[in-house]
Amino acid sequence: MLKINTNSFDFKKELFFELKRDDIKENIIIDDILKISVTLTKEKESVVIAEGIISGNIKMDCSRCLEEFKYKIDNKFTVIYKEKKLMKKNDIETDIFPYENNIIDLFEYINQALIMEIPMKPLCSQDCAGLCPVCGENLNIKKCSCHIESVFNPFKDINIY
Ligand SMILES: [Zn+2]
Ligand SMILES: [Zn+2]
Repeated sequence: MLKINTNSFDFKKELFFELKRDDIKENIIIDDILKISVTLTKEKESVVIAEGIISGNIKMDCSRCLEEFKYKIDNKFTVIYKEKKLMKKNDIETDIFPYENNIIDLFEYINQALIMEIPMKPLCSQDCAGLCPVCGENLNIKKCSCHIESVFNPFKDINIY
């Protein structure tokens, strides 16, 4: 899907890919498509540097109001690839990705980068008001009366006495 044959260019090559929803399993739901543009540069000793941008939207559920929203992805990346046979112990430690039989597969890296991108607690907006704990109303859309009471009268229960 995101495979590139290193024999297909001499020094530098620019490529464009599109990832569709079905291309990624995990928990990532692509909204329409993700665009990936990448420039590959050959260095000495079978090293290939991939520099690019992933852009598009993924769908997420807000952790406060539970509504679905679009999360914008616009990430630059740089990945270093090296022929597997020429890999040294140091290379593995410094995060250099291996490739075999002249084929660089960007998919593994892109997939990992997207998983890293997902926030632990996604929010539709920084000031999302969430749901009312009493009636479950989405407070971004409508203010309910029970919420106002519990916020503005924190001693409600004590006042009974
Ligand atoms: Zn929200
Ligand atoms: Zn309420």
